[in-house]
Amino acid sequence: MFTLENVGYEYTPGTSALQNVTLALPQGSFHWLTGPSGAGKTTLFRLLTLDLIPTHGTLTISGTEVTSASRATRSTLRRKIGVVYQDFRLLPHLTVRENVELPLRIQGNGTLTPAQHQAVTDMLAWVGLTDVTDNLAANLSGGEQQRTAIARAVVRQPEVLVADEPTGNVDDAMARRIMHLFTELHKHGTTVILATHDTDLIRRHPFPVIHLNHGYLTAETTLAESPDEPESTSPVTDTEAPSHA
Ligand code: ADP
Repeated sequence: MFTLENVGYEYTPGTSALQNVTLALPQGSFHWLTGPSGAGKTTLFRLLTLDLIPTHGTLTISGTEVTSASRATRSTLRRKIGVVYQDFRLLPHLTVRENVELPLRIQGNGTLTPAQHQAVTDMLAWVGLTDVTDNLAANLSGGEQQRTAIARAVVRQPEVLVADEPTGNVDDAMARRIMHLFTELHKHGTTVILATHDTDLIRRHPFPVIHLNHGYLTAETTLAESPDEPESTSPVTDTEAPSHA
């Protein structure tokens, strides 16, 4: 899905935020992204979501080399990727439901099919937001904003999910529920990349870890430790993760 060959990024010429990153993230894989503050995680995140284009090396997404790709091709690639930003980036003047519907409306020229409407309802229920669907995003708590951002990222079944600290603002039970959703997406073929500092979360879900330090890829490892609790714990209801997702 993603192939990086000697990828680097300089925000200002001569100062590298990321250097010589060579990495393959195959379709359907699940990776953690970790490293100390300033290591280059956000920069890599922004490259993978095509918010930035590499200043060095080659980044290929779904077989398309992004540096030489046209704007239209980059837009097409971007649509494959569901993104959960650390600062959520919700539209504050829209309701929770409207925020989650937005990518589907953009895809469908403004309208939703009944199945899509139901998918939004199911997704909002899964992340425990049924009671606040008509609230403006501006009036949500941090945890509610995070769950809205997650619902918005996954509701249109993206080929790739890239999320920055997606469980950073929710309690343990909701974090487990969100991780269950992500692992279900992965089982259904979604490529998942999650940036986190939460080593417990990584131990519970021992997928390969991309470590960055000072802008370099320092290791790609698997924390081969058994999950210490059932991965499929579903603390809010016993329902399956939304099947459309
Ligand atoms: P992390 O997400 O791991 O904390 P970043 O990717 O944000 O790391 O930062 C990597 C390096 O790039 C840091 O030295 C940081 O100061 C620098 N950097 C990040 N964003 C910018 C920017 N917009 N302009 C200039 N330098 C930046």
